[in-house]
Amino acid sequence: GTARNAIPATLIPGDGIGPEVTKATVEVLEALGSPFEWETCSAGMAGIEAGGDPLPAATLDSIRRTRLALKGPLTTPVGGGFRSVNVRLREEFKLYANLRPAKTIIPGRYEKIDIVLVRENIEGLYVAHEHFIPVGDDPRAVAVSTGVNTRDGCRRIARFAFEYAVRNGRKKITIVHKANVLKALTGIFLEAARDVAKEYAGRVEVDDRIVDACAMQLVLNPWQFDMLLCTNLFGDILSDELAGLVGGLGLAPGANIGEHGAIFEAVHGSAPDIAGKGVANPVSLLLASGLMLEHAGRPELAERLRAAIQATLLEDNVRTRDLGGTASTVEFTAALIKRLGAAG
Ligand code: NAD
Repeated sequence: GTARNAIPATLIPGDGIGPEVTKATVEVLEALGSPFEWETCSAGMAGIEAGGDPLPAATLDSIRRTRLALKGPLTTPVGGGFRSVNVRLREEFKLYANLRPAKTIIPGRYEKIDIVLVRENIEGLYVAHEHFIPVGDDPRAVAVSTGVNTRDGCRRIARFAFEYAVRNGRKKITIVHKANVLKALTGIFLEAARDVAKEYAGRVEVDDRIVDACAMQLVLNPWQFDMLLCTNLFGDILSDELAGLVGGLGLAPGANIGEHGAIFEAVHGSAPDIAGKGVANPVSLLLASGLMLEHAGRPELAERLRAAIQATLLEDNVRTRDLGGTASTVEFTAALIKRLGAAG
């Protein structure tokens, strides 16, 4: 971007296929004339290799300054090892809102899906205050987990969803809960969301669904939904269901937004099985960079980017292997950049 429009932003290439898809994304954004000026930082396994820390202080400092980051996937060791860097980033920057738009680009099992899920990102069962209670000679006979939802936290995420709806011309928000069983933990969420909804009466419709019924309805008739507003755990599960409705992980972006910054990423992980082979699909991260452009006040660039991605996939029929094509990451990126040039 030109100096006049420059917006400093943190770039975390990440692990596995992360460096391949972030490189592709940075090149495409350059061709688009994006305003971002990147500060490249390490995290995850790459952070450990660089300086023994999965979340280096320099990376945190950079995000504190820029309040804006594009992040490749980070490998998290299962069970032992260090705590999830993704969860640490959410807590550090109070990234209370997780935004997951699911929109059909390539018609597959379903067509014309267009649903935005808003997930509470730092409360609920993800607080994960867990312990075991010993019984007899079994020290781990009983497992206990405590979920925490605060009224303030519930109102904050509800307000985020309704403001998003108003700004983006969305018509209806469905509050997802299990207030028939988890009467306190998810009852407070339903109550707070309904309260906030009253302020938007006449502008945004509201209804609610019990999470299990919602999961089934998403498979039977997803077109009835416009926006979903979920607690942390339910949102985690339903957002992957949404990714499935639009063709899987290669096409699913996500944003983590909070009071002290915003971090944009693909929904998929580091894909160790294909890392370094040059075949990763960069579209999820590209779509995430589109959300980042919108967040930075450049929706017209985001729109151009999405149109070019769609044209490359559907009209030029250039696709990576996961979408049934033969293009490498580099070939797809070149085709997309050519499209951006053609669109002017
Ligand atoms: P994954 O998403 O990395 O991979 C699942 C499958 O999808 C693999 O077969 C993979 O090859 C394929 N895939 C994923 N993204 C693709 C892409 N862009 N193009 C083509 N194929 C793609 O999930 P996983 O294997 O369960 O996790 C691997 C690692 O990633 C784990 O350490 C996990 O903790 C981490 N992870 C990180 C994030 C994140 O940083 N936000 C999210 C999910 C998983």
